[in-house]
Amino acid sequence: MTDILPMSPEQADLREAVRRVAGKYGHKYFVECATSHKEPTELYEELGAAGFLGVHLPEEYGGGGAGLAELCVVIEEVSAAGCPLLMMVIAPAICGSIIAAHGSPELKQAWLPGLANGTKTMSFAITEPDAGSNTHALTTTARRDGDDYVISGTKYWISGPDQADAILVVTRDGDAAPGRDTPMSMFVVPAGSPGLTMHAIEAELIQPEKQFTVFFDQVRVPEGALVGEAGQGFRAVFSGLNPERVTAAAISNGISRYALERATRYARERSVWKTPIGAHQGVAHPLAECHIAVTQARLLTARAAELADAGDRSGEAVNMAKFAAAEASLKTLDQAIQVHGGNGLSREYGLADLWFLARMLRTAPTSREMVLNFVAQHTLGLPASY
Ligand SMILES: Cc1cc2nc3c(=O)[nH]c(=O)nc-3n(C[C@H](O)[C@H](O)[C@H](O)COP(=O)(O)OP(=O)(O)OC[C@H]3O[C@@H](n4cnc5c(N)ncnc54)[C@H](O)[C@@H]3O)c2cc1C
Repeated sequence: MTDILPMSPEQADLREAVRRVAGKYGHKYFVECATSHKEPTELYEELGAAGFLGVHLPEEYGGGGAGLAELCVVIEEVSAAGCPLLMMVIAPAICGSIIAAHGSPELKQAWLPGLANGTKTMSFAITEPDAGSNTHALTTTARRDGDDYVISGTKYWISGPDQADAILVVTRDGDAAPGRDTPMSMFVVPAGSPGLTMHAIEAELIQPEKQFTVFFDQVRVPEGALVGEAGQGFRAVFSGLNPERVTAAAISNGISRYALERATRYARERSVWKTPIGAHQGVAHPLAECHIAVTQARLLTARAAELADAGDRSGEAVNMAKFAAAEASLKTLDQAIQVHGGNGLSREYGLADLWFLARMLRTAPTSREMVLNFVAQHTLGLPASY
C-alpha cells in the first residue's frame, strides 16, 4: 500500500528503522506483557537505545533534537506493530517535553537522558477523583515548609506509577482555594518517597501499564523538585498538552493501521463461498471507508505535530487530530473484528484485546466532549456552558 503521508527522507528512514525494531516484538509480546504483569522492558529499552523515544528531546540531554512530528512517527510505528505502549506518551512525550521546556538544568540533567534512552520512566498525575476534566478544581496541595514543599492529596487513574522512577504531579499552591486563577505548581516526586502510596484500579484494558489511585500524604520534596516557577504550573502543563494529544493520536493511528492490515489480509485469505470474503462489497467497502478515515486522521496528526513544532497556535489542530484519530481507530478496529467473524473475538487473532485501549483514547487524555468544547468555543466562537 502506498503511503500518501508527506514525509521527509529522514522521517521515512526513521519510520523504517522503528518498524524493524518494533516488528521483532509484535502484538503477541505486548499481550504477554499485559497479561503476565511484566514490563515491556526489552522493547522499551531497545527503542530508547536506538534514540527513538527521545527523538524530540534536546541533544545536550541525550535526545535527538528533532520534534513532535518525528516522535509521532515513532509512536505510530510501534503501535502499528501491535505494541501501543501508553508509557511512550506519558514519559518521553508529556513528562519529557514539560521538563525540557520548564525544568531547571539540574532536573533536565537528572531526568531527560534516562527518559530519552528508556532506562527511566515517569508517570504524569493531574486527574483527581472530584476534579476530572475541570483541572481548575484540583485539590492536591503543595505547601512551602522551609526549603521544602509538602504535597498532600489524591490523584486518580494514573498510568504506570508502579513501574515509574518518579511521578510528575500537578498541585494547587498552599491554601489557595480552587478556581480559575488558583496558582498551580508542578513537582517531580521520586518513587518510594515517604508518604507516597498507591492502589490499583481494576480496569478492563489489556496493556502493560496499570492504572492507580495515588495518595500523597505529606510527601516532602526539596525546592529543586519544582518544575518551572512556583505558581506558574499551568504554563508548564500547557507545554505538555500538545505532546500528549498529538502522540495519543499517533497511538490511535497505529492501532488503526494494525487493525486494517489484519482485516485486509484476512479478507483476502478467507473464503466461505467461491471467492475470498474481501470480494464482497459488504466486506470491502467498509474497509475502504476505514482506510479513508485513518488517512484523514494521519494527515491531521502530521499537520498538527508540524504546527506544534513550529510553535504556531496548534491547539485546534492538535485537538482535532486527537478526536479524528480516536474515532477512526474505533471504527477500524470494530470493522476488523467484524471482518474476522467469530475469530474477531478470539485471543489468537489479536484484535478484540485492543478494544478497551482504543476505546479509552476516546475518553483520555482529554475526552471527546472536551475536544468538541474546544472547537465549538475557540474555532466557532460559540459560548461556553461551564
Ligand atoms: C486508562 C486510563 C488512563 C489514564 N491515565 C491517566 C494518567 O496517566 N494521568 C492522569 O492524570 N490521568 C489519566 N487518566 C484520566 C483521564 O485523563 C480522565 O479520565 C479524562 O480526562 C476524563 O476525566 P474524568 O474521568 O474525571 O471524567 P469527567 O470529567 O468526570 O467527565 C465525565 C463525562 O462528562 C463529560 N464532560 C465533563 N465536562 C464536560 C463539559 N464541560 N462539557 C461536555 N461534557 C463534559 C466528559 O467528556 C465525560 O464524558 C486516565 C484515564 C484512563 C481511563
